[in-house]
Amino acid sequence: MKPALRRGWRDLNTVQFGMTPAHALTLGPMDTATGSFLDLLNGTRGLELLREEGRRMDLPDGHVEGLVRRLARAGLLDDTKGGGPAADTLRRKKEVLDRLRPDLASLSLTTSEPGEAIDRLAARRSLRVQVRGAGRVGAVVASLLSGAGVGEVDVRDVGRVEPWDVAPGGLSAEAVGDRRDEAARRAARRSAPDRPPRRGPKAAPGEGGAGHSLVIIAPRDDVAVHAPSPSAAEPLIASGTPHLYVGVVEGTGVVGPLVLPGETGCAGCLNEGRADRDPAWPRLVAQWRSGSGRTREVRPCDLALATTVAGLAAAHALAFLDGRIPSSAGARWEVSLPGLSWHARPVWAHPACPCGATEKGEREHPSEYEGSHETMAEQGPSKELRRKADTERLAGTWRAHV
Ligand SMILES: [Zn+2]
Repeated sequence: MKPALRRGWRDLNTVQFGMTPAHALTLGPMDTATGSFLDLLNGTRGLELLREEGRRMDLPDGHVEGLVRRLARAGLLDDTKGGGPAADTLRRKKEVLDRLRPDLASLSLTTSEPGEAIDRLAARRSLRVQVRGAGRVGAVVASLLSGAGVGEVDVRDVGRVEPWDVAPGGLSAEAVGDRRDEAARRAARRSAPDRPPRRGPKAAPGEGGAGHSLVIIAPRDDVAVHAPSPSAAEPLIASGTPHLYVGVVEGTGVVGPLVLPGETGCAGCLNEGRADRDPAWPRLVAQWRSGSGRTREVRPCDLALATTVAGLAAAHALAFLDGRIPSSAGARWEVSLPGLSWHARPVWAHPACPCGATEKGEREHPSEYEGSHETMAEQGPSKELRRKADTERLAGTWRAHV
C-alpha cells in the first residue's frame, strides 16, 4: 500500500486513507481482520504469500484477490518493482533516489497505477527543459527543476551576474561578475549531483524550442513580465513547444499562462484581450517597452515574492512534465504584496491571434496533451469535474472523503 497516505479508523468498520480533502479516501465496510491484513501490504510480500497469510487469518477464499483488486482500482497500491526499465535504472542509483524520496511519495498521491509514480519520476531524467532568463526568478526555477529530477535544464540569458541577481537557491554571491547563463547552469547542476550526462551538441535545440519538452520564460525585465511579447513567442508557437511564463512586476508575482500552442491562450491572445478591454493598452505597452531598455535603475523584485513564484512555476512545470494539465494552462496566477492573496486571471484564446487556439477553444479542455479524462479532472480547476471523476473512480464501496 502507498505509505504516503496516513491511515485512520473513522469508526469500527471504516478506514480513511489520507488526511487532506484533495487526496483522502475512505474504505468501508471493512471488518477488523481485513483491516489488520492491510498491514501486510507493505511491499515485502507477493500475491502468493499474501494468499497464504489470508488463509492463516481465516479470510474467505478469493477475499485477498478481491481486496487487492479494489485497492489497486482506488489507486492505493504501489508496486515496489514496477515502472519499467527507466525505473529500474533509477532504483539502482540509490543516492539519487534517496534524495528524491519525498517527491516519489508525492507522485504516488497523484498517480493511480502501481509503479506509475517511479515511472514518472524516472521519466523526468530524460526530459529537456529550457529556462529563458536567469535573474532572481529564472535561476531558482532552473535549480528547482534540476533538483526535482529533470535530466537537462538549459538556461539562457545574457550579461554577467549583478549583486541584485543573487538569491538563495539561485545565483550565489560568489557568482557576481560571472556570465549569468553559466552561473545559473552551475547552480542547477549543484542542486542535482549525479544528473544524467548531457546529450551531444548535435541535438542542441535552437531558438524555436524544438527538442524541449517545455520552455520557461522568466524575464528579468518587468515590462516583459507584465506584457509578454507575442513576437518573441512566435518560434515556440510555430514549433508547437509548450511554454510557461513566470516573473515579478512591481509588487506582483505572476505564474502563467502555460501555453499549449494551438490549444490554450498565448502571449498574443493575452495582448489582444487586453487591447479589447482597454483601448489605451497598446499605447501604454509601447511606452513601457521603449523605456525599459533605457532605464538603468534596478527594478523592484521582492526576494520572497520572487522565490514564491519560482516555486509555484516549477510546480506547474513539473505537473505538466509529469503528464498533467495544471491550472496555469489558459490562466495567469497572480499574487501581490502585501496582501498576498492568489487569484487566477483567465487568458482566453483570441480570434485575432494567429496561434489558432480559438478553433479549439470551444472544446472543454485540450485533448492532445491530456493523459486521460481523470487526469484533467484531478488537476484542473473545476471542482465539479474533480468530484465527478472521484465518483466514477470510487463507485461501489469506495467513496471520496471531502
Ligand atoms: Zn494566441
